[in-house]
Amino acid sequence: MKDKVVVAMTGASGNMGMETLSQLMELDRVVRVKALLLNERRERRYARAVRKKYKDRVQIIFGNIADMEKCRELVKDADYVLHLAAVIPPMADHYPKETDDCNRLGTINLVNAVQELGDKQPKFVHISTVAIYGNRNYKHPWGRVGDPLISSVYDEYSASKIKGERYVLDSDLACWAVLRQTGMLHSRMLTNNMKDGLMFHTCFNAPIEWVTARDSGRLLKNLVEKDASGQLDEKFWKKCYNIGGGARNRVTGYDTFDQGFEIIGGSTEKFMKPQWNSLRNFHCMWFEDSDVLNDYFDFQKEDIKDYWTEILKKHSYYRVAKLFPAGLIRKLAIERLLKDENAPRKWIASDDAGKVRAFFGSPENVTNMPEDWSKFPVLAKGQLADGSIDYDEMRNLEHVKENGYHLNHGYDETKPDSELDIEDMRDAAAFRGGRCLSESMTKGDLYTKLEWECHDGHRFFASPYTVLKAGHWCPTCCQPQPWDYDRLSKFMPFYAQVWYDTHAKGENRTYWYDREHKARFTKF
Ligand SMILES: [Zn+2]
Repeated sequence: MKDKVVVAMTGASGNMGMETLSQLMELDRVVRVKALLLNERRERRYARAVRKKYKDRVQIIFGNIADMEKCRELVKDADYVLHLAAVIPPMADHYPKETDDCNRLGTINLVNAVQELGDKQPKFVHISTVAIYGNRNYKHPWGRVGDPLISSVYDEYSASKIKGERYVLDSDLACWAVLRQTGMLHSRMLTNNMKDGLMFHTCFNAPIEWVTARDSGRLLKNLVEKDASGQLDEKFWKKCYNIGGGARNRVTGYDTFDQGFEIIGGSTEKFMKPQWNSLRNFHCMWFEDSDVLNDYFDFQKEDIKDYWTEILKKHSYYRVAKLFPAGLIRKLAIERLLKDENAPRKWIASDDAGKVRAFFGSPENVTNMPEDWSKFPVLAKGQLADGSIDYDEMRNLEHVKENGYHLNHGYDETKPDSELDIEDMRDAAAFRGGRCLSESMTKGDLYTKLEWECHDGHRFFASPYTVLKAGHWCPTCCQPQPWDYDRLSKFMPFYAQVWYDTHAKGENRTYWYDREHKARFTKF
């Protein structure tokens, strides 16, 4: 038990970070929060506001996570490091290099800085993302930790986050936890998304489990409080978890737009057209296991309705929007975004073959998309292209297994962790198209690294936890780029079981992205 703790944070000015910082300030035992902020105008303004409010309890360090010295300064004397900093979409779509610098290199620096502290290491909480699981549809709307990590094609965000997370898992940190954050409802969401084509990446039929920023902040506050007060079970550490908002927050892309537009008197069908949004290559899913974190930290308090009610209260001008005809709002606020560089309709119009393939499958699929909602199957209404589905039953968490939504991880999951042995490693490796080269292991030891070989002959070391429990595999061919899942799925049943939900077996593409020239290309 610790009466006084110091918490070091990255990303304190982000949407999750601001909530976390203000909620940490509610804890008497948090005597100081050290926050690393960029020396930029917006961050300096935030720093001034924070210092005015919390005085010396918040210590601001200006600098970049890419600067090792700054990382050292940040983590020194801290009891916890909450690593929230990330370049996220839409910024990640526009600045691939900065995204990699922050999400991958930044994480490496921070982990190294903590490791240098030897036996004085703070506990490390890494915020990862649902984006690393890649695209889901009605065939496997549910997922859990251990499912395959499949970065959506050309998505630097998930690619960099897979690598950053992998570094944490492979590290020698004494005490870490990886929390994979889902889509987060925050106060700047509408304004951020109404100026970029990103909103059209969301497949209307994608399963999404939201969480609010406030609940996310509450999660981290409760984590620090529970651990510092000596009430957190040691077995919590050295594992990955999914952050989700729970049953009330499990919807689809279609419902999400619907609920958002409702506050300005619209709906998905009034404001959007079915062929505006991509058909695949998005991310998000419903979590079978988001209750695990909630059982630890009791943070799931809000739902999507609470969120929109609050947004409407805060921004009274949305009420005024109700006075305008839907067609006018669609034209003024939304249709103009179709021409944005980051909008799928723009890729179609400008013949961006790689993107069209990645997000739609083929140019023919684009041509065949209906203009009319009456011809577009909406999953949230129980409609499928080739029939119908019981949507409520599909959302039933109790029936995930019997409804066939549970993915196979390639080893005997009925065994307790303490019983896992080298046979399970061999099974898991084979299911991933490769081999476990280590000939023995201590039964139940999930953290001593073993040697593995992928299908292509790359050899690497990784812990049983990283491979069996966290869904990672070869750091060379499974961590884009290139995005090579068409090929990998041919010999990796682990990927195939979900990749072919939205890809044809006849697709044989390798997707490359030239970051420097921002040029995307595919190889056939
Ligand atoms: Zn490989």
